Amino acid sequence: MVLPALAQDSQKLAPTFALKAARLLDGKSDTVVPNAVILVTGDKISAVGSGLPIAKGVQVIDLGDATLLPGLIDSHTHLLSEMDGTNLTLQDVEMLRIVATQSTAHRALLAAKLGRETLQSGITTVRDVGNSGVSGDVALRDAIENGWIPGPRIIPSTRALAPQGGQFGRLIPEAQSIIEQEYVTIRGPESARQAVRQALYDGAGCIKVIVNGTPADVTPDEMKAIVDEAHTAGVKVAAHAIGNAATRTAAQAGVDSIEHAYVVPDDVLKLMAEKGIFLVPTDGTLKTFVDMSFGTRVPSDEERKQSEKNFARFVKMEQERLERAIKFGVRIAAGSDMYLTMPHLNRGAASLLVYEAYAESGMTPLQIVRAATSNAAELLGMKDRIGTLESGKLADIIAIPGDASKDAKALEHALFVMKSGEIVKAPK
Ligand SMILES: [Zn+2]
Repeated sequence: MVLPALAQDSQKLAPTFALKAARLLDGKSDTVVPNAVILVTGDKISAVGSGLPIAKGVQVIDLGDATLLPGLIDSHTHLLSEMDGTNLTLQDVEMLRIVATQSTAHRALLAAKLGRETLQSGITTVRDVGNSGVSGDVALRDAIENGWIPGPRIIPSTRALAPQGGQFGRLIPEAQSIIEQEYVTIRGPESARQAVRQALYDGAGCIKVIVNGTPADVTPDEMKAIVDEAHTAGVKVAAHAIGNAATRTAAQAGVDSIEHAYVVPDDVLKLMAEKGIFLVPTDGTLKTFVDMSFGTRVPSDEERKQSEKNFARFVKMEQERLERAIKFGVRIAAGSDMYLTMPHLNRGAASLLVYEAYAESGMTPLQIVRAATSNAAELLGMKDRIGTLESGKLADIIAIPGDASKDAKALEHALFVMKSGEIVKAPK
């Protein structure tokens, strides 16, 4: 029961803040709103518009020649993992090192640092898709929600569901128990259903499936069982899938997003567009790949050239498939998949580099903003709460210097960050 008098009073609450800037992008329309004002009341946006009147006594934050935007959303993070990129060709060995030597507690504390850096960069919500030990991502979400540590809002997925072996390559029989520290092995459709129920029980807000396996992928029947079980519970499914067979298995089963899909045929892209399945292109520029492959070591010119040659084909391939996906009308949600140590960049700054890759593939700044705000909010099942600057939404708001509709690179330099009406970062 709501007391009418009380309801009326709460509507009359005075705004906590008035944010002003030269312009705003609301995250869904192409219109740049000049002379922008956002009123924040408590943890929510109470009004958005051009030149709105500001009542006396409201704290005004004037951000000057900046663009106000919804807080950025990263649909593909691994906050509990930091790998050494110089081992890029030996990723399964590097993962084995992490899982066999770092407890989930150790990784959750690392994630407290990486989460703080992520939030500071302007990313106010993430979907964390596995490689987080046994429910370390749930512990991190809870710690942030309880206000123990600063960090983004988190949709955790707990351990990813995977075919035999997870992503470790071949381990000896005596080492098999290590796999279950990081993945839940699927052994048929009923086992797949059970794995979804276990993930939900463990606290998952989304289900992550590794479709690709060696030697065998998750089967179409297993995939359908996973999607059915997850959707029955109202939870979305993110599928790691690369190549003709795996992307088709995921799309036909009706997952909510396909992650990576560096190799994907036209007919699967068309099916994704038809079914409204998002592509989360976890792409990098040539520079990003080369940088991460040397870690903190400064390579010789010759080494750098060789590395560029090695990555050039891959970068061309991902660009070409993103262009095709957009041409076929596949919706794009931004996701960094950043899990490596990047030289001279913290996790937040490194995660934003993915926008440069999108720009190089021909996405406009406005398309990139949508991919990182309203589209991602829809993919996360949170479009009623986040992803746009609208009255009634949570006050997740960032300010970017200059005009973000003209230059996506500006998204890397948030000068103001607010999450749920609380100021995280402000200009000095
Ligand atoms: Zn990933």
